[in-house]
Amino acid sequence: MSERQHLVIQGKTYELTWVDHIDGGLGEKNHDMLRIVFERGRPAERTIATVLHEALHLISDELVLSLDEDTINRLESGLYCFLSESGVDLLPLIREPGA
Ligand SMILES: [Zn+2]
Repeated sequence: MSERQHLVIQGKTYELTWVDHIDGGLGEKNHDMLRIVFERGRPAERTIATVLHEALHLISDELVLSLDEDTINRLESGLYCFLSESGVDLLPLIREPGA
């Protein structure tokens, strides 16, 4: 399965870039460049949670919610648990749909 290349968040299409190593985290976003960078080779569950985390940052920025890092971390955990325990397939967040 190939790595997902784009995600649409709040109507904006973000390019996903996959790298071998990121200092100090598993992902980082650049709102102005419409780019999100992820570290490859991590367990899928961890990478999916990181996608949710970066998406929450971008939604917070886009809607001017000013959510701090601690709030984003808690929302990431709560949202991941809710969706996965509800049987939602989250793999398409990190893999090309249908690939
Ligand atoms: Zn963060």
